[in-house]
Amino acid sequence: MTESPLHRLPQAQHQITQSLANAFASAGAELYLVGGVVRDALLGVEIPADLDFAASTTPDQTRVLLEEAGARSVYLVGERFGTVAAVFGEDPRATTVEVTTYRKEIYPDATRFPAVAFDATLAHDLARRDFTMNAIAVEASTGARVDPWGGEADIALALVRAVGDPDERFAEDPLRLLRAARFVSQLGFRLDWETEQAVSRQAASLARISHERILAELTRLLVGPYVDHGLDVLRRTGLLTVALPELQPLAAEADADLAPRLGREKDLWDHTVRVVRQAPARAAVRWAALLHDAGKPQTRGVGPEGEIHFFGHERVGADLAARIFTRLNADKTLRSTVRALVELHSRPTAYEASWTDSAVRRLALEAGPVWDDLLDLAAADVTSGRERKRIEAARRVESLRAHFARVQEQAALASLESPLDGNELMRLFDRPPGPWIKRVKEHLRELVIDGDLAPDDRERAAAIAAQLLEEPGHGAISDLPVPAGVSQRPPR
Ligand code: ATP
Ligand code: MG
Repeated sequence: MTESPLHRLPQAQHQITQSLANAFASAGAELYLVGGVVRDALLGVEIPADLDFAASTTPDQTRVLLEEAGARSVYLVGERFGTVAAVFGEDPRATTVEVTTYRKEIYPDATRFPAVAFDATLAHDLARRDFTMNAIAVEASTGARVDPWGGEADIALALVRAVGDPDERFAEDPLRLLRAARFVSQLGFRLDWETEQAVSRQAASLARISHERILAELTRLLVGPYVDHGLDVLRRTGLLTVALPELQPLAAEADADLAPRLGREKDLWDHTVRVVRQAPARAAVRWAALLHDAGKPQTRGVGPEGEIHFFGHERVGADLAARIFTRLNADKTLRSTVRALVELHSRPTAYEASWTDSAVRRLALEAGPVWDDLLDLAAADVTSGRERKRIEAARRVESLRAHFARVQEQAALASLESPLDGNELMRLFDRPPGPWIKRVKEHLRELVIDGDLAPDDRERAAAIAAQLLEEPGHGAISDLPVPAGVSQRPPR
């Protein structure tokens, strides 16, 4: 990795960095690019639009230098942390830049808010960061790297490693426990062994973190491309049952001695993880995948032939999902979407070609806004070891998708109308009721169905109707009997 991360920045971000570098250099101040941007540039993955810098300047000085460099608006984000934010460029291609004064954090005890000291150097600033891959600084004008914790080597090894003593890092801020698992899911890295030991030892301290922050990190973990690895970290370290105690019975299924009693599925946890990975990376679908079988341990029963069943596990799981999202203060949409998905998740797989249109319509109506998510979840909920079964299940879901599309198309066709109704036609042409109305309306409707006339284009519809009524033998007005006392005005 010899190319400077500065050269990996997109054009606009590169230019902003240069203007800032010039402004800070002419004031004799230090400025370094830090954080996720540096990590992602070194990794060669897509770089987020927003830039984080660390600087030797006070917030007041930073403000002036940002304006000098051409920032559109400058504002203080966290006075306590000395972070000044600025926006460069216009929407939708605006870039937000955050410049934070070098700082060291002082943790007098295990309270959530550390004291901040600003008599700090770059070295202090990097030492208070969470993981080595996030503790690399790049000098803004030369591109020189400062990497006291060996972050670049860890990126090359694909390792998430705490900066310094992992136990100290996690004790300072237990959110880092979840961030570690989230980075595993997002980047496909492994947890360094000592870091993982510390996560396991301190998992219980996650309880000190607010529900909102836990929900946000878990959601980011769930939409990661390596979500199966992230979920396994959560389970192995015990974070899962601290963050989501409701999943304790499900996670316990991963213990080998239980597996043989479960029937054909290897075990429930394993199945769950695979369904999550196979589901599209959207928050609600991934959450629903995680929770879809969470009601199974509570509903397991054995039939007369020794077969295992889980009657009503969808309902139990849906209630569990609702409870989890209430506890985590999730917004209403996420809560109701996931709840509905868990409740309905088995229904699409029961689809048969013999289902009537109304049966399909009824399920779609029950699903409402989660219909597409539901089909995606059902398609992902197929992990059988036998290929024939997988293909058959996938085909069922696709047939249901196609069946509903047909039903919808018919409904759309049925609702297509002539832009002008009978009353409007009579008024427009000053004609009495008669079979001409039906003929004109049908002609106009055909044009709408063919896409040759917009359903709301009344003006063109009137012109077409006028033309039609003039053609003899084509419902023309001259062909129609004119009742006495009605004057025959030519159409306009
Ligand atoms: P992403 O933007 O994908 O979340 P990121 O690494 O940029 O990744 P941010 O939350 O934007 O994460 O934080 C920026 C940087 O601040 C991190 O790279 C890290 O150096 C530091 N940081 C963030 N949160 C913490 C934390 N809880 N403890 C220690 N350092 C942190
Ligand atoms: Mg970031």
